[in-house]
Amino acid sequence: EKVEAIIGKAKACGRSLLTEPEAKEVFAAYGLPIPKGKMARNPEEAVKIARAVEYPVVMKIVSPNIVHKSDAGGVKVNIKNDDEVRKAFQEIIENAERYDPHAEIMGVYVQHMEPWGTETIIGSINDSQFGPTVMFGLGGIFVEILKDVTFRIAPFSKDEALDMVKEINGYGILKGARGEKPKDIEAIAEAVSRLSQLVWDFRDVIKEVDANPVIVYEKGLSVVDARIILK
Ligand code: ADP
Ligand code: MG
Repeated sequence: EKVEAIIGKAKACGRSLLTEPEAKEVFAAYGLPIPKGKMARNPEEAVKIARAVEYPVVMKIVSPNIVHKSDAGGVKVNIKNDDEVRKAFQEIIENAERYDPHAEIMGVYVQHMEPWGTETIIGSINDSQFGPTVMFGLGGIFVEILKDVTFRIAPFSKDEALDMVKEINGYGILKGARGEKPKDIEAIAEAVSRLSQLVWDFRDVIKEVDANPVIVYEKGLSVVDARIILK
């Protein structure tokens, strides 16, 4: 239905990278929570969206040619008023054009800036032997340096996802370390198993999925960045 339409449209354009708004729509269709947001095509549209999703906002470049938006100077966070939105819009476009003069620029994604929480990562690869395989870990140094991640072959239940979450070394951080309140481990398990269903259902077209970061709270979570790469 909806997911097929989004993927179909991208394929028809010869794209292998879904844009962030597209990827997030796919996630939302599978019940994963995403920040309120919309793509703007000009600064005034960006202002309208920022007011609608409520300040503070984050603004990001939307281009099928830019995979890592921060590297392109394509992400601005903590934007607090209309004037900052207009300025950020221009800067993001300029930075992207400088980064890759050939990049097709579709617009700027304006989204509500989610509060601080514990950063986690959910991802998937399509293994030649095992098919779609889902990864979970804590964000930042935990993944990059400590490689503290866990894998399961998709699809799997929420209970299986709960076991995944419990087997990472950093589980203590989610349970509440050093006086911090415990994070919503049930919500993580729900999200991880839903993502496993997505990559299983679309195993013939999806190559890779990357939700980085997923911010987890005492209650609930939010997928603040989503990337889907097609085969
Ligand atoms: P990149 O393509 O560079 O990975 P991201 O979308 O992950 O871009 O944005 C970079 C960083 O900005 C994120 O790691 C996160 O810390 C922050 N960020 C992005 N979107 C939001 C948001 N909606 N709310 C809060 N923080 C955000
Ligand atoms: Mg990211």
